[in-house]
Amino acid sequence: MALFTKEEALNYHSSKRKGKLEVISIKPCRNQKDLSMAYSPGVAEACRAIHADTEKVYDYTNKGNLVAVVSNGTAVLGLGNIGPEAGKPVMEGKGVLFKIFSDIDVYDLNINAKTPDEVVAFCKLLEPTFGGINLEDIKAPECFEIETRLKAEMGIPVFHDDQHGTAIISAAGIMNALEISGKKIEEIKIVVSGAGAAAIACSNLYVHMGVKRENIFMFDSRGLIHAGREGLNEFKKAYAQAEDKGSLADCMVGADMFLGLSVKDAINQDMVKTMADNAIIFACANPDPEITYDAVKEVRPDIIMGTGRSDFPNQVNNVLGFPFIFRGALDCRAKTINEEMKIAAADALARLAKEPVSQDICDAFGVDKLEYGIDYIIPKPLDPRVLTWLAPAVAKAAMDTGVAQIQLDLDQYAKDLET
Ligand code: NAP
Ligand code: MG
Repeated sequence: MALFTKEEALNYHSSKRKGKLEVISIKPCRNQKDLSMAYSPGVAEACRAIHADTEKVYDYTNKGNLVAVVSNGTAVLGLGNIGPEAGKPVMEGKGVLFKIFSDIDVYDLNINAKTPDEVVAFCKLLEPTFGGINLEDIKAPECFEIETRLKAEMGIPVFHDDQHGTAIISAAGIMNALEISGKKIEEIKIVVSGAGAAAIACSNLYVHMGVKRENIFMFDSRGLIHAGREGLNEFKKAYAQAEDKGSLADCMVGADMFLGLSVKDAINQDMVKTMADNAIIFACANPDPEITYDAVKEVRPDIIMGTGRSDFPNQVNNVLGFPFIFRGALDCRAKTINEEMKIAAADALARLAKEPVSQDICDAFGVDKLEYGIDYIIPKPLDPRVLTWLAPAVAKAAMDTGVAQIQLDLDQYAKDLET
């Protein structure tokens, strides 16, 4: 049963002040003195201090806690290229999640920009104001070029959540699933349905973690990606099998993992039956997965199954990542978000899933208990420990890899996050 009606969803957005976010002042403005410090002439002291040392922008403005959520609306949710205005509710929603989960402020910037050149130029102009940039819902393959160029050309973290969010959360799931099934990451065979933003980024992270590229069988809307195919973009080409190994059903035989980042009903029970013992299925197409949890469990109870949905176990939910990854990156003033920081986040999530879960969290998800095992390999988004585990882990990885501009006392930092 749906949790809400269409009218309720529309009223939620339009009632009272319209939209989901507002700007509030955080300094007193009660009298003439306050006013003259907030604005002219007192503000000039802050201006002069920053002019003398640009880094002071982090002391005298909100830059260090401010993220731009930038979208051109070309790949919004599963709705496609619906344009920047129609994408704005999603970007405001992203701002809500940033604020609630990690107290980061967001301006959502929905831009009329079609080409990578335009998006790149726009984002680069934002560097004085923002501590980080979350690219969102920008279509593949353009999103790969845009992020790569911005990472190279900007001194603040740039992170395309549609790519890396899923990659990080699913990587945490893989770490635990492989531990439970006793398999080695170097040996697993993975079938990937989809070759877009999320599928390519997931595969890249898995390869970084030790999966052999030749053990990845990637499918797009036209079938297996292999060297004999014409017109593949460079990102797909990187996953081309040397030869045509057949259909999805053929490749699913003996697979240790199926990753779905494509469309509803892409696989069926017959295919699932042929997978290896204790295989993993992450069927993440939203809102309807490549195959349902119940359909998998009916034929293969041993399979470790996750989806993008909150109403089934093991939700691969991006909100477990971006608020906390940015929190850690901003607080150590990281210049970038690198692979080590992503893996640190995945590793922290994987470790947290092994800890006892409070009754409050179980109640929030309507279950009696949550215990590490095949139906609980990924922590729940409302678990407050996700913040205190992930942000310090990400900051530590940034410090260890030399991209942090502030060296934090990590024990103290974790304590500060708790309050
Ligand atoms: P995308 O960039 O548009 O990529 C979609 C990919 O799916 C394309 O490569 C497309 O093939 C392929 N595809 C379409 N029909 C297919 C079929 N029948 N069989 C195999 N592949 C097929 O989109 P995305 O951002 O990567 O997202 C993909 C899906 O994953 C969406 O449903 C999205 O909601 C979901 N997703 C979920 C999560 C999550 O749960 N955490 C996170 C991110 C994305 P072509 O390249 O040939 O067009
Ligand atoms: Mg998105």
